[in-house]
Amino acid sequence: MLAAMLHGARDIRVESCAQPKPGPGMVLLRVRRAGICGSDSHYFARGDCGPFVPTRPFILGHEFTANVAALGEGVTAPVVGTRVTVNPARACGFCSYCSSGRRNLCRKTIMLGSASTKPPTDGAFAEYVTVRADQCHVLPAELDDTIGAMMEPLAVALHAVKRAGAVSGKHVLVMGGGPIGLLTAMTARAFGAVPVVLSDIVPARRKLALDFSADLALDPAVKHLSEQVSSLTGDGFDVILEASGARPALRQAFDLIRPGGTIVQIGTLGVEDVPLPANHLMLREIQLVGSFRYGNVFDEAIRLAASGRLNLRPLLTGLFPLAQTLDAMKQADDKTNALKVQIEVTAP
Ligand SMILES: [Zn+2]
Ligand SMILES: [Zn+2]
Repeated sequence: MLAAMLHGARDIRVESCAQPKPGPGMVLLRVRRAGICGSDSHYFARGDCGPFVPTRPFILGHEFTANVAALGEGVTAPVVGTRVTVNPARACGFCSYCSSGRRNLCRKTIMLGSASTKPPTDGAFAEYVTVRADQCHVLPAELDDTIGAMMEPLAVALHAVKRAGAVSGKHVLVMGGGPIGLLTAMTARAFGAVPVVLSDIVPARRKLALDFSADLALDPAVKHLSEQVSSLTGDGFDVILEASGARPALRQAFDLIRPGGTIVQIGTLGVEDVPLPANHLMLREIQLVGSFRYGNVFDEAIRLAASGRLNLRPLLTGLFPLAQTLDAMKQADDKTNALKVQIEVTAP
């Protein structure tokens, strides 16, 4: 099969390699469409992703739609031909986290298209990939391949908004106007947050946020931001969802949150510790909550998207055939103009 193999920083080659075989409990998927995630871009830019250093060349990609092509031993569903999207985090299914509904915390998770395992686990920028059968989520006809390949980032956003608790009628700020920030803002709005404000230092991203998910967009670098926020909210935002992964953004969240409010950390902040205003946290009973990947929200994300209540299509800003994965990766790097860049592996 053909696959886009990451050999090192900015070195991705489309080459032929062995087609994987589905072991017991696994299915072979023929990939249709795959999206480029921030973590894929990070691997492409640096050759590694923080502590995850690949021990051999490997295939990126974990946001995708595919058709089931073959079943491993013991698998009866989904049947061959079914169009699916995939939860790329294969949790063990048996530990205390998995059995208590918190499979995103499973310590034995194997992540697709990632060097978090040694050797790395190959992903979906390839004609074929294998996953465990229960990682597949059937796509309804309303969701085409473009939107189907967005269910993974939507699941990230959905899980994050749920981690904030009820947001209906609340003042919500989303920090960071990349795909996850925009999806988070959209989801908060669908859940009834009023207003939904988005902050980003890039003017083009603020404009995009206004175009399709936020009521208001703020520049986090302006001088009188706190005054602006008090006139808008009184004592500050009820909920802040930090999706930029920028250390100053998390610090700023403590200045913009109201007493008793909740800050949800979605963005990856790097490997170093970040100093926090711990007294603020205590005196104002601020809740700082982590949100990691997606728990069990894939089917809910699919239903929400299929309802038509979220306008996901404008997120797609680039589409390239598998042979041009290198160009796709380069375009995805353009943080000013690119949102979601996808790779068409198999034309529909
Ligand atoms: Zn992703
Ligand atoms: Zn587990």
